[in-house]
Amino acid sequence: MSALTELYQDIRHCQKCDISKTRTQAVPGEGPENAEIMFIGEAPGFNEDQQGRPFVGQAGKFLNELLASIDLKREDVYITNIIKTRPPNNRDPLPMEISNCQVWLDHQLEIIRPKMIVTLGRYSMARFLPGKTISQIHGTTIKKDGVIYFAMYHPAAALHQQALRETIKADMQKIPPLLREMRRPPESQKGPEPRQLGLF
Ligand code: URA
Repeated sequence: MSALTELYQDIRHCQKCDISKTRTQAVPGEGPENAEIMFIGEAPGFNEDQQGRPFVGQAGKFLNELLASIDLKREDVYITNIIKTRPPNNRDPLPMEISNCQVWLDHQLEIIRPKMIVTLGRYSMARFLPGKTISQIHGTTIKKDGVIYFAMYHPAAALHQQALRETIKADMQKIPPLLREMRRPPESQKGPEPRQLGLF
């Protein structure tokens, strides 16, 4: 059994939070174990809870479109959430739920070791880029310990706001050059010119 499959079993059996009693099933995440890029949302919603897969509802449809716009398929990337269980009525995750679930995401990061982490929405951003404001840092990156962090608005936020939709689409277009840069051998990578790439 792969390390990820084993981890998924533990996640599916987790009962640390009360919301485990109201879920249909946990939603660990999906994608290849060697994914270069990881998209991290907030929490499963109704459809995700039903299917046990992340981003399969309306927000997921938009995420698929965004990925296709940069020639990526879902199968190329790893997709997960900060918490693995749907909060009742899709309420915001509680701090205690986020902290109980942290061990699972930490373990996913250890196994997959993505070179780039794309945070979708403010909960995910707060985990990796604490103290930042999404309106200020969306579409920009920060490099820490060899990993590129890239903050984006949550696709669900854009479903009813055309302006935000355009912003998210534009931010997505910044990912391919970052991936190309990331794939170059270290000796030929650019020096620290963070502002050119929109890095801090
Ligand atoms: N919103 C999220 O943050 N995650 C999902 O999986 C679906 C919707």
